[in-house]
Amino acid sequence: FLQCSLHENIKSLTNASIKSAKREGGEWRVEISVAPTCVDIEKCTDCGGCEAVCPVEVKREFGEGLETRKAVYRHYPKSVAKGYVVDAVNCTRCGECVKACKSGAIDLDAKGLEISESGAAVILATGAELFTVSGKGEFGAGRYPNAISAVKFERMLSFGSPSLGMPVCPKDGKTPDSIAFIQCVGSRDPALGRSHCSSVCCMFTLKQALFAKERLPKAKITVYYMDLRAFGKDYEEYIEKAKAAGIEFVRAMPSLLRQSPLDGSIEITVSRQGSLSTESHSLAVLAGGFGQGEEAKALCASLGLQISQNGFACGEFTPCESGVEGLLPGAFSPLEAPAEGVSGVRGG
Ligand code: SF4
Ligand code: SF4
Repeated sequence: FLQCSLHENIKSLTNASIKSAKREGGEWRVEISVAPTCVDIEKCTDCGGCEAVCPVEVKREFGEGLETRKAVYRHYPKSVAKGYVVDAVNCTRCGECVKACKSGAIDLDAKGLEISESGAAVILATGAELFTVSGKGEFGAGRYPNAISAVKFERMLSFGSPSLGMPVCPKDGKTPDSIAFIQCVGSRDPALGRSHCSSVCCMFTLKQALFAKERLPKAKITVYYMDLRAFGKDYEEYIEKAKAAGIEFVRAMPSLLRQSPLDGSIEITVSRQGSLSTESHSLAVLAGGFGQGEEAKALCASLGLQISQNGFACGEFTPCESGVEGLLPGAFSPLEAPAEGVSGVRGG
């Protein structure tokens, strides 16, 4: 995306949403709303002066609240478009950032744009939306500090995180002596209306489990799963590598997670060999599945695409046709980007 945004023949619009897309006279006409960021990226030098003086501090979305951010901020260091944005929801309009910006890049009264684009074809790549793991109420994410999403854990593993890449228990900052990874949270779950396989979670969990084992060699690491779907080249070897590293794999879908009133550890109820048992872990990492967001579903429907039971666009697809004239399928599904690029297929 970074390369695309720099190409002289490609215009990229961020902070934008599609209002309507209609095909008339062999051409698509797309109406787009671009919300204001209040920072002129041509003038912004990325100095961070505004961020330093902003008095507002809220949870950072990147990393699901592991860190905080200011009301004027960068989404993350390599975000596209580059530069700062003002979060209109949390900004109190105190004006401190405007005073601090030596480049005059901030205009708190900036207005959004309404843009109209036309072209012979539209390539639709809606991407995927992560399931919010707190939506699986019986697992306690959002209520139990030590039951966290895989996204938050991924951020924790980054060397730029507050714990400098080390896994820690959010409740007390202690090093976990055991970590449970729970698969298929919000995927393959008809009760949540999400019966599709998210397809990438097994492999990112293996990566996270191996990183955790590497950084905490004495910790007990357990992966609870329904099936391990390792369908890519050499993926099976990755599972064997994890087993050889001492990671335990338990074929069981936990029915309930509880927080211990004594130390905040997570007690997991599972069925092993036909009998229920409760197993305790310092930290539980929930692998939330990917699906299609409501906005993307509405857009697909407005373009005349059929929507499957699981919310994905479906119908008479081939790699280069969608069944709607001039509309080409791009990346819809949780399949990995390289596979999407080659096949143009989507999940069902
Ligand atoms: S102070 Fe101005 S130039 Fe510096 S990061 Fe903020 S908006 Fe950009
Ligand atoms: S005007 Fe808004 S973004 Fe700027 S410093 Fe004040 S609260 Fe922060």
